[in-house]
Amino acid sequence: MTIEADSLSGFDAAETAIIDAVRRFVARDVRPNVARLERESRCPDELVATMRELGLFGLAIAEAHGGLGLRLPVFAAVMEELAKGWTSLAAYVNSHSTVAYAIARHGTDAQRSHYLSRMATGEIRGALCLTEPGAGSDLQSIATTALARDGSFVVKGSKFFVTNGARASLLLTLVKTDPAAEPAKNGISLLLVDKDAPGVSVGSTFHKMAYAHVDTVEILLNEAIVSGSALVGGIAGRGLQQLFDSLEVGRIAIAASAVGLAADALGEAKRYAAGRNAFGVTIDQHQAVQLRLAEMATKLVAARLMTREAARVKASGARADMISGMAKLFASETCSEIVADALRIHGGYGYISEFPVERLYREAPLYIVGEGTNDIQKLVIARRMLEGHEAAILGLPQ
Ligand SMILES: Cc1cc2nc3c(=O)[nH]c(=O)nc-3n(C[C@H](O)[C@H](O)[C@H](O)COP(=O)(O)OP(=O)(O)OC[C@H]3O[C@@H](n4cnc5c(N)ncnc54)[C@H](O)[C@@H]3O)c2cc1C
Repeated sequence: MTIEADSLSGFDAAETAIIDAVRRFVARDVRPNVARLERESRCPDELVATMRELGLFGLAIAEAHGGLGLRLPVFAAVMEELAKGWTSLAAYVNSHSTVAYAIARHGTDAQRSHYLSRMATGEIRGALCLTEPGAGSDLQSIATTALARDGSFVVKGSKFFVTNGARASLLLTLVKTDPAAEPAKNGISLLLVDKDAPGVSVGSTFHKMAYAHVDTVEILLNEAIVSGSALVGGIAGRGLQQLFDSLEVGRIAIAASAVGLAADALGEAKRYAAGRNAFGVTIDQHQAVQLRLAEMATKLVAARLMTREAARVKASGARADMISGMAKLFASETCSEIVADALRIHGGYGYISEFPVERLYREAPLYIVGEGTNDIQKLVIARRMLEGHEAAILGLPQ
């Protein structure tokens, strides 16, 4: 039995078929080509086209809007499979899915019917514009303003680190509609900004330690004119509430991607250990290597279970900030540990670019700092503990 035994996962036949289709795509089109694609400077458009055919841009979008309408635990399993093949592919659909969730959950009927079916096909790709030069963790201190004028908003500011910002055409943008509000959160709103709106442009591109094929850009909002109907849900002052609910889905996606990356690293380590000889035997016959592999496998399964639990709680409609924060924290830290262990098992070869582990080692830290740093996740978890909520999740006396 493998650790991927879906028969034990609680997925039904249709869900298992979707996960299997993604697994086949990864095995056939992705894994054999990752090393070459990483060396090439062009984006892997043919893989994105197949992802569109498989419906992967509509993973979390309801069937009524043309999406696959997957339950969140299945969505997490698909994200894991994609990341197991190549984390960049998971990054293409991660923030897109968060934007789609925000529209589905908090948008108006008109916003849902205008965007969701075209997002499901990948015709419209979504990106998240939250971070600014002066505000990342502390989103209440954003400086971007959107002031009402003649039925529109005039948006002024700059957003940093926007994943897929160059390729996306829809920017879910956090703005201050009432910069004087006290507390500040009451003046913060979410806007659906079409990238071709006047005054919206792509600024500098950030060069990163990994994910070269996933663009990370600055978005400039230079007195951009955005329709008044772009306000998510048609309500001002609810932006942070809408965003934090949506980011729980994003954190589950990050946790699932981290599990996929870790599984890839463990697979590489196990394969390498079975082929490398030292002191007359393959190194997987040395007990120290076996103990390391056993710890990696145990941590991997724990991270996967926590991620699926977070997805289950979120799907139930219950408040899930604590469990999704825990899953993101644990899966991303575990992922980095597993990749570092995989590198150790490769000896000097783990440091050499020909071996996938070298790339995985550079990819893993993003999951620690992205989608809310892990220290911020700890603050959320601690706050919820001190409030005495979610005792059921912690197994504490009520
Ligand atoms: C590759 C990449 C892709 C990204 N994609 C996107 C995207 O698509 N959209 C988007 O909007 N953003 C994106 N980000 C931004 C990312 O979400 C932020 O970098 C992250 O939230 C942290 O913000 P910051 O970098 O400003 O760090 P800061 O907020 O300046 O934090 C710096 C350090 O201080 C710590 N810290 C801050 N406040 C506290 C506190 N109260 N208590 C304890 N410690 C604290 C943090 O944990 C961190 O260790 C991306 C970032 C990267 C690197």
